[in-house]
Amino acid sequence: MTGTANAEPILVVEKLRKTYGQRVALKDISLSIFPGEFVVLLGPNGAGKTTLFNLITALFNPDAGRVLVNGYDTTRNPVAALASLGVVFQQQTLDLDLTVTQNLMFHAALQGMSRRMAKARIQEEAKRLGMQDRLKEQVRKLNGGHRRRVELMRALLHHPRFLLLDEPTAGLDIASRRLLHDHVRQLCRQEGVTVLWATHLLEEVNGVDRVLVLHKGSIVCEGTPEDMIRQTGAADLHEAFARLTPEGEEA
Ligand code: ATP
Repeated sequence: MTGTANAEPILVVEKLRKTYGQRVALKDISLSIFPGEFVVLLGPNGAGKTTLFNLITALFNPDAGRVLVNGYDTTRNPVAALASLGVVFQQQTLDLDLTVTQNLMFHAALQGMSRRMAKARIQEEAKRLGMQDRLKEQVRKLNGGHRRRVELMRALLHHPRFLLLDEPTAGLDIASRRLLHDHVRQLCRQEGVTVLWATHLLEEVNGVDRVLVLHKGSIVCEGTPEDMIRQTGAADLHEAFARLTPEGEEA
C-alpha cells in the first residue's frame, strides 16, 4: 500500500545527527514515512540502521535534529510517541527462562493492558502466526524462527499503527525468513500497518517498495528499486546497491 501525499506522516526525521565519540553514525539525515507504506531501510553493516532505530524508539537522544512519531517528539514526549510503535529489535530480547506466554504477559502488563485483554490478544496473534502449540513452552526450547515469531507477536500486542523491524530475518533459515516477511507484508497490505523494515538483503526488497539506501550515516538514494537502477546507471539492483554503497575508508 502506498502512502497518500495528503496524509500526515507517521514518522518524520529531521536533520538527525548521532555521534559515538569521533565517529559520526548519522549525518543530519531527514526522511518521512506515510501511513500504510512499506519502506525498506537498506544498508550494509555499519550504515547506521540500528542507530536510527535506537533514536526512533527513544533509547537515546540525538546530538542534533529531531524525530516525530505520529506527530509527537520522541525526546519531549516519548510516551505518546512510542504508543503507536511496535518494535522488533535486531538482538533477541526475550527472557529465555520464561514461557512464551509469560514473556508476552509481562510485556502486555508494561503496556498497561489488562490480563484478560492480554490473554485474548496473545491467542489471536498466536493463531495468526501458527504458534498456539508453543505458548506454554520455555523460550529457550524454541528454534530461532519461532523466537522471532514471539518477538513479532509481542510487537503487535497493542495494535501498533507503525512497525519497526531491524534486520528481523538475520540468522533464520529460508522458510522462517519467508514466513516472517510474508506475514509483515500482509499486515501492511491488509491492515494498513506502516512498516519500516531494515535489512542488507536485496531479496527482501519488492519492486514497488520505497527504499531508503543508508550508507555511512547518509541516505544516498531514495525511491523504488527501478529508481535506484536508473539513478546509478546500473544493469540491475545488485549493481545499483554496490555502486551506492562502495567500500572504503570509514567516515
Ligand atoms: P549492522 O547491520 O552491522 O548492525 P547498522 O547499519 O545497524 O549495522 P549501526 O550499528 O547503527 O549500523 O552502526 C553505525 C556506526 O556506528 C558503525 O560504524 C558502528 O561501528 C558505530 N557504532 C554503533 N554503535 C556504537 C557504539 N555504541 N559505540 C561506538 N560506535 C558505535
